[in-house]
Amino acid sequence: MSLTTDVTATLAVLRAHVADLHAELTRNGLVAWTAGNVSARVPGQDLMVIKPSGVSYDDLSAETMVVTDLHGVLVEGDRAPSSDTAAHAYVYRHLPEVGGVVHTHSTYATAWAARGEAIPCVLTMIADEFGGDIPVGPFALIGDESIGEGIVATLRSSRSKAVLMQNHGPFTVGKDARAAVKAAVLLEDVARTVHVARQLGDTIPIAQSHVDSLYDRYQNVYGQQPATTPSTLGSSS
Ligand SMILES: [Zn+2]
Repeated sequence: MSLTTDVTATLAVLRAHVADLHAELTRNGLVAWTAGNVSARVPGQDLMVIKPSGVSYDDLSAETMVVTDLHGVLVEGDRAPSSDTAAHAYVYRHLPEVGGVVHTHSTYATAWAARGEAIPCVLTMIADEFGGDIPVGPFALIGDESIGEGIVATLRSSRSKAVLMQNHGPFTVGKDARAAVKAAVLLEDVARTVHVARQLGDTIPIAQSHVDSLYDRYQNVYGQQPATTPSTLGSSS
């Protein structure tokens, strides 16, 4: 595939941005070894930027990131794409509003996944960011499209930006890669808090009408910002 000059320029910015976002996974304690990855859809293209397979976080850079099409076929880069590429690609093919995908095995979120238990909406922060309970997706083996199918089916049946794949761990999505990373960080935080709360007793559900108004306010009023464009990607903090 030959890429136009404009796409090549966009890719250079996006590769650096996605590489930098991986530092948030380690900074927030979401990953062990190389088991976590961030990807970004290339705006207007059937392409995505994703972490290469098996490269340590310290060695990630714009140059080491890889570009694939939305079937996971390598388009740019010297290394094999992440082993989770098929799942990311499936999400981009089926959820056009998604611009970023993150996968980790963060401890508390994955502990809920190990029990196959949704995280109940018992904190205003869960209502704000996830719009209700954080759902569990089906058990699925790596190697075909079943992980992607499970993620998409579960996200479509919920307002949540996160799905806890049973016996595996969380996938989060966002309008861009940074939003998906934010969801992964907030997910682990609420997974931990609700786990701790459970140790001393029952948690209190939030009434659906309050969940709805919290979600609506947070998504539509609080912190509203102009849409991220490639020219601003590098300046996010
Ligand atoms: Zn995994």
